[in-house]
Amino acid sequence: MTTVTGSGRQARHVGQVLDPGMDAGAVLARVGNTPLVPLDVLSRGLGSTVFVKLESENPGGSIKDRTALSMVRAAERSGELQPGGTIVESTSGNTGIGLALIGALTGHPVVVVTGDSISSEKLEALNRYGARVVFTDWSAPSDSPDNARAVAARITAEIPGAWRPLQFDNPANPRAHYEGTAPEIWEQTAGRVTHFVAGVGTGGTISGNGRYLKEKSGGHVEVIGADPYGSVYSGGHPGPILVDGVGNSWPKPDWPKVFDRGLLDRFLRIPNDEVYTTLHRLLNDEGLSLGPSSGLTVAAALRVARAAPHGSVVVAIAPDTGSNYQSKAFNPVWLADNHIRLATDLAED
Ligand code: PMP
Repeated sequence: MTTVTGSGRQARHVGQVLDPGMDAGAVLARVGNTPLVPLDVLSRGLGSTVFVKLESENPGGSIKDRTALSMVRAAERSGELQPGGTIVESTSGNTGIGLALIGALTGHPVVVVTGDSISSEKLEALNRYGARVVFTDWSAPSDSPDNARAVAARITAEIPGAWRPLQFDNPANPRAHYEGTAPEIWEQTAGRVTHFVAGVGTGGTISGNGRYLKEKSGGHVEVIGADPYGSVYSGGHPGPILVDGVGNSWPKPDWPKVFDRGLLDRFLRIPNDEVYTTLHRLLNDEGLSLGPSSGLTVAAALRVARAAPHGSVVVAIAPDTGSNYQSKAFNPVWLADNHIRLATDLAED
């Protein structure tokens, strides 16, 4: 059963969605060029430096602002998306928020098809940017009329001139990182980066960054995928994935087209307890409020730094802000319900 929230309201104009008088061009210019900060406390004594690329600093709060802008601009250039044309995407998270923000700034109404498990904070962000949100059964199989992609296809067919970015297949997704994120990392480390760590959802982040950093370094930068339990990317059995935006339960033939597995040197599979302990330490010890997939990548980066030659420079992507996860990752009830134990709890036993 498909339902529409917000009484099916249409996306509004920028002036109504964002602060009146806000300069859309100025907000768009704030996408990318994110800070790269060293983890002083967490990497103390490791003999190597661990940096995090704070994608939480993008105006919509995540790395997906880059992807959304890249895909929208490419479609405008190719003519697939005409001025005022509607953007329709099925997404359970940040891509929807990124598209909602970029759509509002570039004059395109946005429809996001999503599932019940979306956090209340992410839903609020979609509403704030004026997206129309369509709920469907996220677990509906591909041959069901309630399947998210099927619903998105139906809505696209109903709206003249509507366009679907299809982030899993769209080369403008990894290109955002090949042309943006990775050159920034290269410059910010003055070419000294030795290891790059990212989670894999669509694979756009790791493929775009991985390709650029391998090319620039003559193959010297090691590219490491951080994978949660329940994901098959790192060779595990499919199961519940408790880290938003990363991992995959589909068999290999169905992996996203934009994910170039050949660019990765290896995967590290990180237990949920370690992901969430690292996430809470990032907040408590480093003052960084980040989302769970940042706990995943930083936990993996710390493992890498522990084993790497002295003086290595490890860069981990922090995909999004912690403010969208107060009801989940930072809520003791949610953690207990999901059997996640922080190292501090374990120490108290
Ligand atoms: N972390 C979060 C929170 C995300 O929303 C995403 C995007 N799905 C990722 C990591 C992974 O990024 P990518 O899709 O580029 O692999």
